[in-house]
Amino acid sequence: MTAPLLELRGVSAAYGQIEVLHGIDLTLQAGQVLTVLGPNGAGKTSTVKVIAGLLTPTNGRVELCGRDVTSASADQLSRAGVCVVPEGRGIFPRLSVEEHLKLSAWGAEGREARVQIFDAFPRLYERRKQLAGTMSGGEQQMLALSRAIARRPALLVVDELSMGLAPLVVEQLYEHVRAIATQGVSIVLVEQFIHDVLGIADVAVVMQNGTVVRSGHPDDLAEDLAGLYLAASL
Ligand code: ATP
Repeated sequence: MTAPLLELRGVSAAYGQIEVLHGIDLTLQAGQVLTVLGPNGAGKTSTVKVIAGLLTPTNGRVELCGRDVTSASADQLSRAGVCVVPEGRGIFPRLSVEEHLKLSAWGAEGREARVQIFDAFPRLYERRKQLAGTMSGGEQQMLALSRAIARRPALLVVDELSMGLAPLVVEQLYEHVRAIATQGVSIVLVEQFIHDVLGIADVAVVMQNGTVVRSGHPDDLAEDLAGLYLAASL
């Protein structure tokens, strides 16, 4: 059997003396979309940081394609194909769409990537000369996704794709995410309790207070989600 693309086993992590992740388990098979859901402070971004090599676990193990990467740096993980779209998108307001894409991938490969991206996102092609800071939130998020896929990642980690966007725009972006997964990229999609994300995910986990409180097929979690959300907001 082939190893999962990403596996976290019993991962704990801390900022200084304060432990914020307490034994997280996650498994993502190649080409799948895994969504990590949970309220503010649940530990979602800290989990993203562990996956990206920005926060080293104090306990447990992280594996990428069966290889132990628990102590790997962000730089090593990036070269191994892990690419993060951070909360807030990481866009440069005074650079154009085309300039962003040129910074992400260059040479013949970069040109080929741009052709594919403009094919998949015609809106970005129309706006290729526009400064990113003047685009709508949805277009900026499209650009953030495109920059990431221009680097041809094996694993794409997206933190709060939906933040500040209208539901219809989020729905369109989710369709793009699903299409990216169909091309063989594995995806971790971190969201607060957004019901719609369950529709494009293959696996879902719900986090609360630094632990995974539910995991499984999105259909099986959908029912529990309203109750969990209510409990978390009390
Ligand atoms: P949100 O949805 O609000 O972004 P989250 O689920 O992503 O929340 P984290 O950002 O991972 O949660 O935070 C988990 C816990 O770690 C919180 O209690 C938070 O205060 C704490 N924390 C996060 N970053 C740091 C840091 N740099 N230093 C100290 N504590 C931190």
